[in-house]
Amino acid sequence: MQKAENLKEYRGELKEALDNDFLRTTLDNFAVSYRAGRANAFKDIDTKALIGEIASIKDKAAANLDDLYEEFKRNAEAAGVHVHYARDAEDANRIICEIAKATRSRKIVKSKSMTAEETLLNHALEDENLEVVETDLGEWIIQLRHEGPSHMVMPAIHLSRYQVKDLFTDVTGKKQEPDIEKLVKVARRELRQKYIEADMGITGANFAIAETGTIGLVTNEGNARLVSTLPRVHVALMGLDKLLPDMHSALTILKALPRNATGQALTSYVTWITGENECLAASDGKKEIHYVVLDNGRSELARDPLFSQVLRCVRCGACANVCPVYRLVGGHKMGHIYIGAIGLILTYFFHGKDKAKNLVQNCINCEACKDICAGGIDLPGIIKEIHTRIQDEEGHPLPSLLLGKVLKNRKLFHTLLRSAKWAQKPMAGDDGFIRHLPMVFARDHGFKALPTIAEKPFRDKWPDLRPDVANPKLSVALFSGCVQDFVYPEQMEACVKLLEGHDVNMEFPMEQSCCGLPVMMMGEKKAARDVAVQNMRAFQSGAYDYIVTMCASCASHLKHNYLKLVKGNPRLESLAMDFSSRVIDFSSFAHDVLKLDPSEFRVTGTRATYHAPCHLCRGLDVHDAPRELIRTAGLEYRECDEEEVCCGFGGTFSMKFPELSAELLRKKLDNVEATGADVLLTDCPGCVMQLRGGLKARGSSIKVRHVAEAMADNRK
Ligand code: SF4
Ligand code: SF4
Repeated sequence: MQKAENLKEYRGELKEALDNDFLRTTLDNFAVSYRAGRANAFKDIDTKALIGEIASIKDKAAANLDDLYEEFKRNAEAAGVHVHYARDAEDANRIICEIAKATRSRKIVKSKSMTAEETLLNHALEDENLEVVETDLGEWIIQLRHEGPSHMVMPAIHLSRYQVKDLFTDVTGKKQEPDIEKLVKVARRELRQKYIEADMGITGANFAIAETGTIGLVTNEGNARLVSTLPRVHVALMGLDKLLPDMHSALTILKALPRNATGQALTSYVTWITGENECLAASDGKKEIHYVVLDNGRSELARDPLFSQVLRCVRCGACANVCPVYRLVGGHKMGHIYIGAIGLILTYFFHGKDKAKNLVQNCINCEACKDICAGGIDLPGIIKEIHTRIQDEEGHPLPSLLLGKVLKNRKLFHTLLRSAKWAQKPMAGDDGFIRHLPMVFARDHGFKALPTIAEKPFRDKWPDLRPDVANPKLSVALFSGCVQDFVYPEQMEACVKLLEGHDVNMEFPMEQSCCGLPVMMMGEKKAARDVAVQNMRAFQSGAYDYIVTMCASCASHLKHNYLKLVKGNPRLESLAMDFSSRVIDFSSFAHDVLKLDPSEFRVTGTRATYHAPCHLCRGLDVHDAPRELIRTAGLEYRECDEEEVCCGFGGTFSMKFPELSAELLRKKLDNVEATGADVLLTDCPGCVMQLRGGLKARGSSIKVRHVAEAMADNRK
């Protein structure tokens, strides 16, 4: 659970988690095997279409929650079930405690339920002197340790078998061995008696089907079946978001849920319960069943045009499985009760902004969660929106306010960059890096060397570089972003060199500036909007076929976020639609539009590996073009492990959380070095900065270059 009061304390907690080698190794191993398992489980399925179908089912359900609830209640009651509506967590706990009292239940067994974690149900039951025993193996372990879950599907993933052995030795009073099969047997033996003695069983529900009043439970251990069948009273606690119109909808979700959660085509047990049934433990031979349907802000969420998509979540946990930050620090530091990307969001809605305010800053915006989400939720977009709202309510930190003000004023921003060129002189080496950082930065940021500002920005070179094209077939405008303009102008020059000779007329509108992503990442949405408008106006007058950018992050931001930023202003919306539709990343332009041919390049056979920028492979869904360009340009492409995993840059993220950035970079560079490549290529100046600085700090001889630079070098 999240305890830190402020960002400084939170960073302290993150450091502790980073020092836990077992946690990191376990989560690393799991992340690698999960990815392979999931890919295999989905291999014969059109995943995107399935996600689209689930999103549509859940959106329709969210728009219809009141009617679905009434229908579900009517049909469940007709089948002999008592249905209760719980306004909030307290209400849900009160209802369940009252059911326990009315049914004279003293002993309770529970199967895993995130909704029960959300309401802190166990605490409420224990306050009433009721005995509650978790029966899911992982949940039982964390209950015995008085901890919260560290993963939605695998709650005790953070613990080793040695820790479990010690725990079980304490619990049973007998020495146990660190053997997983034996430990499972211990748990089974201890828990069996609890099922038999229990008066009440509490489960969650994965589905609540309105047309029949049926609930569905998806589990692997079989404990939910015992919990829902053996005791004389069964209570199922579920969120309103579990309501679906029919069985077909549930089966559609079931196609994705286990595949996304654990890479299984189906879990071991899928249980459907419709109405009261026989129970030998009950005096009248009939089980008493109660469904408690929890709102806790879900109805309000359903009415919000932006946030309603949160209710598409099917609790598969995949957004944690692929999150590079979760992989480093685990769920206790990347969530409160719900964890991973959806955890950052649900913490805000269910547990308040105080619990969420640090968490929502700990997202590197890599989009891995969005890419994999079973409900197609724009998780990073919502996390940023929440960050903005919290800052709007609580006040914006000075650094982000200042950056916002500077970026909105292009002339001031560029003047500052030009001044920085002079200010850096005493610290600048002659190899393009700052020689030493001021002491205040050196401690946390020494894991990578920082680049110097270039002698001459690209915009000052442009008048001499601009080629005259007699009969252009295409007209393009170049968008540089601030890094390529002021730090790496040679990347832009490489682009110009590659486009030359292909009858492409090029322009570089001088009023362009930073794309605005850095301020968006800092929760400065208003400043990001102003910067967007400034850029769109800079390109408004030209009749360009394409706006080409060599920065994957700029490309993704210009293409996907500008329209969202100006929503509500029809004139700007139309400007944004026109602007964004013409934006294209360099690799797609060179490969798909120019169709550069191997005959234009010398074959050098230089061994080149590749880092796929998050905003290219996931933000723009571009995968093959850069790799094919590497081969086209006469280099030998060597695939790197985890090529599409984030390098740890994330713009301002690497400044705010340098320990996490350093660790992500370390893993990336280990993989790069293992390829034996001479050069590491990528499509984003931010990634170049991170990777080049990291290799320099390691003293590695591997060169880091933009794909365009390597191609320009080999151009005949
Ligand atoms: S965008 Fe990346 S870092 Fe952020 S929550 Fe999603 S997976 Fe994690
Ligand atoms: S947000 Fe998406 S990926 Fe995360 S648990 Fe929910 S459905 Fe799964």
